[in-house]
Amino acid sequence: MKIAIMGAGFSGLTCALTLEKHGYSADIFEKRGMVGDRMVYAEGISSIFHTPIKDYIQFLSENYDLHLKPTSNISRTHIYSKNESATLDGNLGFINMRGKHPDSYEKQLAEKIKSPIHFNAEVNYEEISKEYTHVILATGDPMDVQEIQPFEISYKASFRGSTVSGEFKRNEIYTWFNNDFAPKGMSYLLPHSETEASLIVVYPQYPENQKKDKEELWEQCLESAQKSLQQKLSITNDYSLKDFMVGKAAYPRIGNTFFTGNCLGCISPFIGFGQFTALLTGIYAAEDICGLESYEKQTKSIYQKYHDSLTLRRLIEHSSNEQLDRVVKSLHNELLGKALTSPKLQILKVLAKVAHPIPRRT
Ligand SMILES: Cc1cc2nc3c(=O)[nH]c(=O)nc-3n(C[C@H](O)[C@H](O)[C@H](O)COP(=O)(O)OP(=O)(O)OC[C@H]3O[C@@H](n4cnc5c(N)ncnc54)[C@H](O)[C@@H]3O)c2cc1C
Repeated sequence: MKIAIMGAGFSGLTCALTLEKHGYSADIFEKRGMVGDRMVYAEGISSIFHTPIKDYIQFLSENYDLHLKPTSNISRTHIYSKNESATLDGNLGFINMRGKHPDSYEKQLAEKIKSPIHFNAEVNYEEISKEYTHVILATGDPMDVQEIQPFEISYKASFRGSTVSGEFKRNEIYTWFNNDFAPKGMSYLLPHSETEASLIVVYPQYPENQKKDKEELWEQCLESAQKSLQQKLSITNDYSLKDFMVGKAAYPRIGNTFFTGNCLGCISPFIGFGQFTALLTGIYAAEDICGLESYEKQTKSIYQKYHDSLTLRRLIEHSSNEQLDRVVKSLHNELLGKALTSPKLQILKVLAKVAHPIPRRT
């Protein structure tokens, strides 16, 4: 077997590590000059979206011998709508760094890799597939998938973010659901440390949103964050990203080509998170190549979760600020708060079922 991995990101690296664990090696091709050669920012993984897995760090460690060190755990989430606020407490997930940061997850994974990583190698599938018996498409870019098979796009998103300086509690994150500045989307603040955090606003690029003044939305987002945190936040760097595709590939595998991470459809349409699933798909693809599991079988639940998450997204998209206020206010109900954070109850699955009782095609 001759295995090529296109992309040294989350899913490409976990795939390489799992192959190595079972005695195989792969050639990894990375278009950038080093692993994580991009902006520094924080990402989060919330347990609420991965029930019944309570603690993904422990899960990866115990099941796959993959030991990641997050920046901090999340013990409190502050949730704001236009006129309401609520807090959720519990073991709510973890924050980790991305990009050039020395502790970014991609750097942690790359340190463990023995297989060769070919840098500055922006390879294309056609060339690679001629030379290798197995190809892992892990470029994080659905456009690459569309050259091989259908990739259904649910929406494209715009991000605007900044590293902000201020005073933060490392274990507390903030989210805002407010159509005034995050139309049909959300904004969130994830601390990197006691003095630095990522503030990001993300919303779908629907025609009605495209007409809005993006800078004005960002200014309102910043103002709202300052009001909620009761402090002035100073911006140390900022970035923006558009056309970030959220969707899913028709097939997880075609012949000996495996689609992993964003190339499979790892991004949850509800909030746009995809890290944990990306890590898993790399592992699953490697396990299939090693003859241990079936990739199609392992990814079935990912497709199902994608549909549940899309149902919730459509629901939230149709919510006015007044309705969002009501949802946030309802979180004051202790029982609902407990249900949301309980690993025993897959609350998002339940909500999706209520909103869309007929199962969607996977
Ligand atoms: C701004 C932003 C914030 C996010 N926040 C969160 C969050 O808080 N929580 C969460 O769970 N998810 C979040 N996500 C999503 C998460 O980052 C992705 O789901 C995850 O990184 C996908 O992993 P991947 O393996 O598919 O791709 P990536 O990790 O992006 O890796 C792809 C790699 O392939 C390389 N590459 C691309 N094309 C080629 C080519 N032709 N040849 C060789 N190499 C190539 C790239 O340089 C890159 O290194 C966020 C995404 C963005 C953009």
